[in-house]
Amino acid sequence: MNTNHSIGNNALVWFRHDLRLDDNQTLVAACQYAAEHQGTVRAIFVVTPKQWASHDVAPIQLDFIERQVNQLAIELAELGIPLDICHADDFDAIPELLSQYVATWQMTKVFATSEPECNEQRRDHAVIEAGIKLELSLQHCFLPPLSVLNLSGEMYKVFTPFAKKWRQIAKQDPIQTLARPEPIAAPLPTPNYVEFHCTKICSEQWQVGEHAAQAKLRQFAQAKVAGYQACRDFPAIDGTSQLSAYLAIGILSPRQCLQVLLSHYPDALVHDESPGRCWLNELIWREFYRHLLVAFPKLSRRANFNALADSIKWRNNPREFQAWCEGRTGYPLVDAAMRQLNQTGWMHNRLRMVTASFLTKHLLVDWRWGERYFRQKLIDGDLAANNGGWQWSAGTGCDAQPYFRVFNPISQCEKCDPTGAFIRNYLPELDGVDLKLIHKLKIPIQAQLFVGTDYASPIVDHKFARTRAIAVLSAIKKGSAKAQQIGVQQAQEIDRESRVDLDKEIFG
Ligand SMILES: Cc1cc2nc3c(=O)[nH]c(=O)nc-3n(C[C@H](O)[C@H](O)[C@H](O)COP(=O)(O)OP(=O)(O)OC[C@H]3O[C@@H](n4cnc5c(N)ncnc54)[C@H](O)[C@@H]3O)c2cc1C
Repeated sequence: MNTNHSIGNNALVWFRHDLRLDDNQTLVAACQYAAEHQGTVRAIFVVTPKQWASHDVAPIQLDFIERQVNQLAIELAELGIPLDICHADDFDAIPELLSQYVATWQMTKVFATSEPECNEQRRDHAVIEAGIKLELSLQHCFLPPLSVLNLSGEMYKVFTPFAKKWRQIAKQDPIQTLARPEPIAAPLPTPNYVEFHCTKICSEQWQVGEHAAQAKLRQFAQAKVAGYQACRDFPAIDGTSQLSAYLAIGILSPRQCLQVLLSHYPDALVHDESPGRCWLNELIWREFYRHLLVAFPKLSRRANFNALADSIKWRNNPREFQAWCEGRTGYPLVDAAMRQLNQTGWMHNRLRMVTASFLTKHLLVDWRWGERYFRQKLIDGDLAANNGGWQWSAGTGCDAQPYFRVFNPISQCEKCDPTGAFIRNYLPELDGVDLKLIHKLKIPIQAQLFVGTDYASPIVDHKFARTRAIAVLSAIKKGSAKAQQIGVQQAQEIDRESRVDLDKEIFG
């Protein structure tokens, strides 16, 4: 055990989205380095409010990060490792901040976990260029990006073969998580709570701490994984893990998730029929989108994955976008989902698909508007998964939902919320309305239904919106510049004609 803080060969752990002590390769590497060089270890977390604002990081996620970082400081103090929480407006200010920090504390090496996003990678290059020895561990994915490739040595553009190859590689080695390092010095006094100076929203309904996250993971694996496939599409049922917030900021590692899953379902990697397979596939979707972000850096810059989608003529009506954001579209499932997001900072996966499809296809609003709004609200906001989910829903992405498949927000309502429990929870305006009528929603009926309630009339007719979406989004078809031109003209005509019909239907 080394207590001398003034000699060189000290290691700095720079925490970013790996806010844990268990199974943290970066922390283990720093402790090993310090032990080998008779140095010591310090840790740092850099608060970057301007950068977070430009990345639209949700205030609820920032509060969650603040609470976890402070928890980490307490647990690091028990290992004899001090954690400094420093402020540096944005990424550009980091090289200088770190240079001063390492000089002050005689740090010879900085250890951090690599991140797949463009700005984060640029930040790390700038730190290296500033002369800091930065050692990066790759642990934001289970398998490193660019390691799961097709026979031509390229990144897959379709999920199913990617997942197959991923499983083949993953099963080759036993999955071992790393233990929390032993104390490197006597315990330090419990640190004071440090607040981040940025806009935050209370995240207290989400417990912080690795023990809480690991317990949630174990309980889910033990009690719910087997029923996941049957329950995962019903937002009124607590049928998914709700671990995304923990994975997004690294309170849990993907390796921990996989290890716990395989301890219950050892055949999940090898048998399609394994009860663990369905949830495993969700973890692989997470990897797929992260690998894509590295293979196609333009995704970080919010470009369409499919360049043909650049010619889509989005309508981008701000009034309709606002109604969608506020849960006032007149479609109960869409509105209940948006209110779940606004009130809790989380939304069920099926509803993310329904609401994203509704915005991009029914209202023809550019997916980037929705992506940004989700990011500003989600406690689990994550560029790769959010971008992937939005482009999948809009039909502009990699292995996306085809442009002509448009979720029906009425039949989805009956399928996903058969008892109406979810809708009623978020739409108290519909309390007195018969569930059968909500499920069988027809525009004229709905207009009558909601007379006397505060609930909005439908913003657009489903059949009309579907036809219009298919016409406009046909731009995505290969070689369809002309078709797109015709499609847009047709859509404008449909828009004019159907709006007259719709007005008649609603207002008589
Ligand atoms: C439009 C849209 C936006 C999304 N934005 C995000 C986001 O910002 N952050 C985020 O973590 N997920 C996002 N997702 C994916 C998914 O909706 C959430 O990961 C999931 O709802 C989280 O709930 P859970 O933890 O209970 O998931 P579970 O169903 O228990 O799945 C386990 C884990 O697998 C991962 N996962 C599951 N589904 C997906 C998926 N489709 N894509 C990538 N990873 C997945 C998550 O890390 C999740 O925690 C988005 C999906 C869509 C359609």
